[in-house]
Amino acid sequence: MRWRAMIRREVVVAACSSTYTLAMMEHSCETRLYLDDPDRLEFEARIVERRPLPDGGVALLLDRTCFYPTSGGQPHDTGRIEGEPVVDVREDEAGCVVHHVTRDPGVDQVHAVVDRERRRDHMQQHSGQHLLSATCVELLQRETVSFHLGAERCSIDLPGALLQAEELDAVERRANEVVWQGRSVRVRSLAPDDWKLLRKPPPPGVGSVRVVEIEAWDRSPCCGTHVGNTSEIGLIKLLAQERVRESMRLHFVCGHRALREFSRRLERQEEVVRELTCHPDEVASRVARLKEDARAWRKEAESLRAEFAASRVREWLASATRIAGHAVVVRELQASEASTLQMVAEAVRAQGGIALLGAAGEKAHLLFACPEELALDLRPALKAACTHVQGRGGGPPHRVQGAGQEVQNLDAALAAARAVVTEQLGSFDKGASTA
Ligand SMILES: [Zn+2]
Repeated sequence: MRWRAMIRREVVVAACSSTYTLAMMEHSCETRLYLDDPDRLEFEARIVERRPLPDGGVALLLDRTCFYPTSGGQPHDTGRIEGEPVVDVREDEAGCVVHHVTRDPGVDQVHAVVDRERRRDHMQQHSGQHLLSATCVELLQRETVSFHLGAERCSIDLPGALLQAEELDAVERRANEVVWQGRSVRVRSLAPDDWKLLRKPPPPGVGSVRVVEIEAWDRSPCCGTHVGNTSEIGLIKLLAQERVRESMRLHFVCGHRALREFSRRLERQEEVVRELTCHPDEVASRVARLKEDARAWRKEAESLRAEFAASRVREWLASATRIAGHAVVVRELQASEASTLQMVAEAVRAQGGIALLGAAGEKAHLLFACPEELALDLRPALKAACTHVQGRGGGPPHRVQGAGQEVQNLDAALAAARAVVTEQLGSFDKGASTA
C-alpha cells in the first residue's frame, strides 16, 4: 500500500491547488484508508510515533488512518482517537499524516472515529467543486486555477472578467442537471499514457496519478474524499462573484450547506417581511415607497425647522442688546440643535443682526456671523472664544466657525467673543443683557 502514499503525494497539489510542487519521496507512511473507502469512518490502528506539541498536546503517527489531512484545498477531518478529540490533521515534511490530539491516549492499539458530518460536508463540497469546474470548462472554456473550501463558503478562481448574469445562470443550471442525473463518481489510477483523458493533466515525469472521475463529465487528478454518486451532492448554489487581481472568484455552496444557506436567507427575509408587514414579493416596492416617504418627511421637517428658527430669531432680535446700533444675539443652543446653528446664524444675519452662537454636543461648536456690509471682523472674537474651549477654527471676517473639546466652557467662550465684538463696535456696554 506504500505506493498509494507516493501517488497521493504526486497529485495532491496538481488537482485542487494552483501550484505543482511535486514530492516524489520514498517514505514509509501510513496506509490511507480514505483513498479507497471514503465512507469508512471507524478503524483500528497502531500508534507508530508520538511527538510532543508546544501547546501540551501530542501528535500521533498511525500505521493506518481514515483521517484526511489538510491538503489540496480540502480541510482536515476531525474525530476521536481512543476517545481523545482530534483537533488537527496535517502532513509532516515526509508526507506522513500527523494527528493532533490534546492528550496522549496512553495505549498503542487505538480505536478511532472520524466525524461523520464534517466528512460528508467536505465530500459534498469537494465533489461539487469538481463538477462545477468541469461545467465552467464546458460552457465558458475557463479552467479553474484554484479552489478554496472555507468553513462557510467554497470558491473557485477562474481567469478572465466577471461573468454575465446569463452565464452564471447557465453554469448553475447545467451543473445541477449533472448533479440530478446521478452520475457515478469513482476513483482510479491513471498511467501517463492516459493523461490525455484528463481535464487538467499533471506535469510530465510524475508516474501514475489518482484520478476522480465523474461519469462522462470530468476526470481530475485528486487525492480528496468524494461522494460515490453526483446525486449525493444534492445541490450546487452559486452565491456571488468578485474580482481578484487578474481573475475572478466564484463563491458557491453544495449539499447540506446549500440547504442551510437557503434556510438562513429565508429567516432573514421573514424578519424583513414581518417588519414591513407585506408579502415577500412586495418587499422591494415597499422599501422604495418607505424611502420616498422618508425623503418627503425629511424635506417637510427641514422646512418646519427653518420656519421655527426664523420665528425664534425674530423674538431674539427684538429683545437683543443693541451695541452701537446693532442687535447682538448671543445664544447657546441645545446639543440637539447643533445642526441648526448654521440655519439660525443665517436668519440672524439676514435680519441685520450679529450672531454669536454656540452649541454643546460631543464638542463645543461655535458659529459667528454678521451682515457683510458691517465693518466687523469676527476672527478675533473666534480666537478669543477658542482659547476657552481649547478649540480651533476660522473663516472669512463675516462668518467664522470653530470647535473645541472643553464643552463646559462654552458660556465663557461666548462671553469672550461678545466682549471682543463690543470693543470692536466701539461700545463697552458691559451691563447689557444678552437676551
Ligand atoms: Zn479535488
